[in-house]
Order: sequence, then C-alpha cells, then structure tokens
Amino acid sequence: MARYTGPKCKLCRREGMKLYLKGTRCLSPKCAIENRNYPPGEHGRERQFGRSRQSDFSLQLREKQKVRRIYGILERQFRRYYKQALQQPGLTGSNLLIALENRLDNIVYRSGYADSRDQARQLVSHGHFEVNGRRTDVPSYSLRPGDEIRVRDGSRRRTYFKEVRDRALEYNPPDWLERDVEQLTAKVIRQPERAEIELPPVNEQLIVEYYSR
Ligand code: SF4
Repeated sequence: MARYTGPKCKLCRREGMKLYLKGTRCLSPKCAIENRNYPPGEHGRERQFGRSRQSDFSLQLREKQKVRRIYGILERQFRRYYKQALQQPGLTGSNLLIALENRLDNIVYRSGYADSRDQARQLVSHGHFEVNGRRTDVPSYSLRPGDEIRVRDGSRRRTYFKEVRDRALEYNPPDWLERDVEQLTAKVIRQPERAEIELPPVNEQLIVEYYSR
C-alpha cells in the first residue's frame, strides 16, 4: 500500500500542532513546530493569521487529516476504517480510533519497539515481527485481545534490536498492552478505551461529521 513519503514536519505545520511523526526529534528543540509554527508554503506566515476564521467544513477536514497523518494512512484506507467503525455498536469516532490503535504498526510503536509509527511500519514491512508465532509483514494487520507480537529470532541479532530494549524501558506502554522487554514481546490484553488513547488533541466527532455530510 502506498504511503506519504514527503516531509513529515510539513504535516505538523499544516495542522498547527505537533503530531509526533519523527520520534525523538519531536521532543527536541529541532522540532519545526518550535521554530516555524506557521503553515508551509509561500504565504504560510500570512495564512497563520487566518486560522481563527475556519468554516465548519474546514474544521472537520483538518481533524480528519490530522488523525490520518498521525497514523500514516491514505484516504481510501482511512475511509474504509470509518465505514467499519460506523457498522459497530457504540460511538463511531471512538470505534475508529480503537481500530487504528489495533493496527500492528501502532502496537509495535505503543510497545516502545519503535520511535515512531513510521519506523514501526518499516520494521513490520521488513518482516521483523511475528504475530502469534507467524511472520507478519502487513502493517495494517489488526490485532485482537489475546494476540501477541514478538520480534523474530532471526532479527534479534541485529544491532537495532539489541539496543531497543534500553530505549523501550524508558517508555511505559498503555495498560491494555502487556509487554515483556526481555523477550521482546507484547500482548494485547483487551481493547483500549477511548480515554486511554494518547494522542495530540483530537475531536473525533468532527471526523464523523466530515464523513456524514
Ligand atoms: Fe517534525 Fe516531530 Fe516536530 Fe512534527 S512534532 S514538526 S514531525 S519534529
């Protein structure tokens, strides 16, 4: 599946907030939002002052784009997630975010085995992870409670995975994941609640409104 490969910081600047797309750099003073928090492009600085005059449609669109960019998903696939969320009981917006959290690349990221979802996606695509004992290289693979991810035996010898344990220990995974850093595994023990999904400020109801037009 294709994905956006352009400059990540531009996406944050377009949304006017940190989307945390580049791992540790996002926490450093090099973050573009710290230095240039205005929309990209020739007239970015001027448009910065127009941000308060957004229409309802523009607000809904921006919210949708924000979440899509956070999870690194293209429009067609995102719309598919929305349609599935719509068919499930409960709040559609929460269902949507929960489905995105259940993606394999996101679980690798939430377990602390990657600095960003983009890096997690690459690790999964390169076949470094297995799910329930089977090699799985599909970043969008959806995990359910009881499923376990594990770094494959052949990948553990790589320098990256030798070093990742220390880095992972600096990060606390959410309560719905059970991680064993020594074994380089993580298990989904239950579905996340909406309140447990840590994201930059997001109003998912606006996404529902966007697709309900
Ligand atoms: Fe770039 Fe990360 Fe800052 Fe976004 S949060 S602007 S991706 S460094």
